[in-house]
Amino acid sequence: MTEANNTIPLLTLQDGHRIPQIGLGTWKCSPDETEAVVMAALDAGYRHIDCAFIYGNEVGVGNAMKGKLDGGSLSREDMFVTSKLWNTYHGKDDVKSGFLRSLESLQLEYLDLFLIHTPVAYQRGDQIFPKGDDGYPIFADVDYIETWKGMECLVEEGLVRSIGLSNFNEKQIRRVLEVATIKPVINQIEVNPYFTNTALIEFCKSKNITVVAYSPLGPTAHRAGYSPGDKILLEDPVINAVAKKHRKAPSQVAVRYAIDKGLVVLTKSSKFERIKKNIQVFDFHLDEDDIVAIDNMNQNQRTVPSTMNLKSPYYPF
Ligand code: NAP
Repeated sequence: MTEANNTIPLLTLQDGHRIPQIGLGTWKCSPDETEAVVMAALDAGYRHIDCAFIYGNEVGVGNAMKGKLDGGSLSREDMFVTSKLWNTYHGKDDVKSGFLRSLESLQLEYLDLFLIHTPVAYQRGDQIFPKGDDGYPIFADVDYIETWKGMECLVEEGLVRSIGLSNFNEKQIRRVLEVATIKPVINQIEVNPYFTNTALIEFCKSKNITVVAYSPLGPTAHRAGYSPGDKILLEDPVINAVAKKHRKAPSQVAVRYAIDKGLVVLTKSSKFERIKKNIQVFDFHLDEDDIVAIDNMNQNQRTVPSTMNLKSPYYPF
């Protein structure tokens, strides 16, 4: 491991592989800025990058990593790279082609982690968002159990080290566990002070499934769905009081909240200063009363409800 990685704890997954406890998210990072953003993140010490086919920017992530790997400043073993299977590739025989599209864009020989992005399947084919006349996606009746079987083949072929889930609820995870010969090691889900997701976290823990928290900063003014008047997590007085106490920024408190819960956390920024700041969270920790106060902020309010998938029989929320 490089020096930069010494400061970031590594958590051990149930299959024995290790994952850095903080990662850079790449959702909504525009394709033309992604390479520079990921370069900046690697320079700042990030070693875990969270990607997905649907983010449309994996080539940029791949270019940045290739630059660092070819230049010798980074070795592949230092990196932890995740991608996610898109909804149009849920058929057991489609999983590998969905995976290979990401692998090729990322210009890597293997991935550390591959997740089913969501239990919801769309009609297979060239259209990424096949849409019906009602404006909703055209769903496919592909059970995620079938998808999981395809995921297991990727591990057997040595294409990926670990496999897992994202946006799966308890019942759906239980169904996967019933048939899995290779167990999911991760469930990547939303966790932040307005959506603490406690019951699902506890369930995952009981099954030795590591939770990766997305959208730790919750609703911010920078989000596409934001309208004036909406609550902004980073402006919440509770977060600000805790931040003041620790002489940290509200964003750092929100990130640290996930870490002090024992979760892996992903943050995204395209701004170099924020990229650096969001990872500077290992020189303090929240006190027990801070955690209680932040837990009490819960409003069961999702930042990412994926309502376009409401009509799918596999909608998880
Ligand atoms: P987030 O880090 O909670 O929020 C990102 C937003 O906050 C961006 O608008 C960013 O704007 C802004 N921001 C970042 N740092 C800030 C700071 N220090 N102060 C104020 N604003 C700041 O992340 P997220 O993107 O929602 O989630 C993290 C990652 O998790 C994603 O990028 C993606 O990789 C993954 N994810 C997965 C799923 C899933 O379905 N599996 C869903 C959501 C997210 P700027 O870029 O302008 O700084």
